[in-house]
Amino acid sequence: MAIEQSDESRTGTPPVAQPRGPLDPEERRAALDQIASEVRVCTRCRLWETRTNAVPGEGHADTEVIFVGEGPGQNEDVQGRPFVGAAGTFLTELVRSVGWRREEVFITNVVKCRPPGNRDPEPDEMSACAPYLKRQLAVLDPALVVTLGRFSLQTFMPGARIGAVHGTVRPAEPTAGAAHAHAYAMYHPAAAFRQQALRETLQVDMTGIPAALEAARRARPSEPAPEHTAPGPAARVLTAADHMTRTPEPLENPVPAIAEMNDDQLILFR
Ligand code: URA
Ligand code: SF4
Repeated sequence: MAIEQSDESRTGTPPVAQPRGPLDPEERRAALDQIASEVRVCTRCRLWETRTNAVPGEGHADTEVIFVGEGPGQNEDVQGRPFVGAAGTFLTELVRSVGWRREEVFITNVVKCRPPGNRDPEPDEMSACAPYLKRQLAVLDPALVVTLGRFSLQTFMPGARIGAVHGTVRPAEPTAGAAHAHAYAMYHPAAAFRQQALRETLQVDMTGIPAALEAARRARPSEPAPEHTAPGPAARVLTAADHMTRTPEPLENPVPAIAEMNDDQLILFR
């Protein structure tokens, strides 16, 4: 996909990576399509029984930024696409506010099918669905995972409290599947509808994302030299020696957290 560079609001940090790694764009796109086609017919947990459409996620195959929400809502279930309701409109606006376009990032969820009545996803549903997110992460190899809401936060920053960590970046939990990524915590965009003050919090936190991406890019291991890069997916499997020399340094939270919410404001999101 051609990326416009003329937009005045563009930051100097587009989310789409320069050509990198052993997978070429077509291979990456094909791998993501394969995962999506498996998700659409998946029956690994009870959520398949009540869904209209599974929602695998969508976005640019060469992006280095993935937004991970909680699970599809009603509009997403009807359309089979992530973040297309009111929360999605707000998320799209937030992405635009830093000069990016929705099509330049990847957007998906912790669970790919709608929990009935928008209830919270159950632990067994999240574990049943986790392999799909892990595979998406393995293909995209993102530098930055933006967590939207509690369940995504707990996946990539286990034990963290949103009130303390929103607007900050740290190495992503390695078992979540994004081995070389940093995670950036945000409230869920739908939280802004329940609590007006969080709208501005989300807007301010979004402005920190391009800098977080730059920091995450600096911290991630550099590409292997071309002569050591065999073509095809197998080349993405790192050896033990790679792990010793390519472990990213933790960041020192280069993006400041904004003012803390008070306890009344936070209680909804714990
Ligand atoms: N909320 C989410 O967490 N994900 C969506 O895709 C839509 C709303
Ligand atoms: Fe499969 Fe995930 Fe849907 Fe459950 S939520 S049926 S694991 S795709």
